[in-house]
Amino acid sequence: MDNKEFRKNAHELVDWMADYFEQVEDYPIKPDLQPGDILAQLPDSAPEQGEPFEAMFEDFKKTIMPGMTHWESPHFMGYFPANKSYPSVLAEMLTATLGAQCMSWLTSPAATELEEQVMEWVRKLIGLPDPFTGVIEGTASTSTLCALLMAREQVTDFEVNESGFSGDQDYIVYCSSETHSSIEKDVKIAGFGRKNLRKIPVDENYAMDPAALEEAIREDLEDGNKPTAVVATIGTTGSTAIDPLKEIGPLCSKYEIFLHVDAAYAGTALLLPEKRWMNKGIEHADSFVFNPHKWMFTNFDCSAFYVQDEALLVRTFEILPEYLKTPEDERVKNYRDWGIPLGRRFRALKLWFVIRSFGIKGLQDKIRGHISLAQQLTATIEQHDDFELLAPVPLNTICFRFHPNHIDDEKKLDELNSKLLNNIQQDGTLFLTHTKLDGKYTVRIVLGNTNLEERHVDKAWNVIKEKAFELIQ
Ligand SMILES: *Cc1c(COP(=O)(O)O)cnc(C)c1O
Repeated sequence: MDNKEFRKNAHELVDWMADYFEQVEDYPIKPDLQPGDILAQLPDSAPEQGEPFEAMFEDFKKTIMPGMTHWESPHFMGYFPANKSYPSVLAEMLTATLGAQCMSWLTSPAATELEEQVMEWVRKLIGLPDPFTGVIEGTASTSTLCALLMAREQVTDFEVNESGFSGDQDYIVYCSSETHSSIEKDVKIAGFGRKNLRKIPVDENYAMDPAALEEAIREDLEDGNKPTAVVATIGTTGSTAIDPLKEIGPLCSKYEIFLHVDAAYAGTALLLPEKRWMNKGIEHADSFVFNPHKWMFTNFDCSAFYVQDEALLVRTFEILPEYLKTPEDERVKNYRDWGIPLGRRFRALKLWFVIRSFGIKGLQDKIRGHISLAQQLTATIEQHDDFELLAPVPLNTICFRFHPNHIDDEKKLDELNSKLLNNIQQDGTLFLTHTKLDGKYTVRIVLGNTNLEERHVDKAWNVIKEKAFELIQ
């Protein structure tokens, strides 16, 4: 492909992209496929000779597109959204075009300094106090791993970095039983060992019970273990429960335990002053993560990781071989020392474009709109005799189930709701997912897509009711 062809193909793609955004809600939201169906259409080996762009693009439309699940559709209400927006997609085009590898200041001063400033903007937007400094990581899983590694090095005075875990001392990490699975994965990777992860019970709202946390810490101290880190969640993945930082924070300070806050999804709601109560006690936290790539209209990947002690973070990760030394090292941030990978994409650009394009007000309006649509649907579900809410709805994730009056057997209700979800998925007009809350099969609906409007929510509720009542006819 030469420059002339690139220009022509790129224009064609941009038209395709704009059409896609316009038409996405008319696509079947998820393909009707069996595992291996796409694989069977792909050649066993790579082509010997180069092929024209037209051939690739044709195959993309013919083979790949029918196998895609459309996260961009406003009827995608499963998991948590992986949002995007026009300014974000445009920035990704520029990032790909520049192709800069932004591991240190020298390798692209503008990328480093823009990241520094945009993270500062975001810090103020979500009301994080002054000592916090931010960096963009790939995912919340990685950010939390960084936090646990910082905790590990702090508690062992950098001994594990030096000699590895040794001796019989057990280092303990605490989270709630509703915490995201990435915490357990990170505990394994960081070398703490899964048996040293304590899952603290939750209250009736699925938030961590601080009294149970303190009891667990005391028990560990009595057993000669070393309480090392607590991971509190703002907005659990199951039901967006909010762990009480204002009680957990002082406990961590009292027992000198590293506190990491995982607000991967719900952190975006902190853009709204009326939601800042969720973050009360944040000054006790050592680190905080939220993902603009979930609800803040910024393409995956973009995870905003904040720490109070920049020196601890850098000392945990810094390695300086001769070939990476630069004359400015003393005066600049070299983000390669702020996390795990050496290489870094220019991710600040899309966040900058998003914030400038929407403006603070535009972002707030969208998020408020989502929450308000969710509150309306929550009221509708609550008032319906044959549906019930299974958790509070502080934001825009609704946990509910179909519960016809004449059925009270829990096992039957689980089966009924699992069938309901299955039939909704088969239908292809709506994408929902499930969880288990207090052992109950729970249907989850998340109203956070960039282009969500009231009519999409109305349609979703109609599909849910239709599929539900079909089951008991
Ligand atoms: C989505 C989510 C994660 C994982 O996020 P990744 O960026 O995909 O690693 C972690 N914690 C919570 C609470 C989440 O909702």
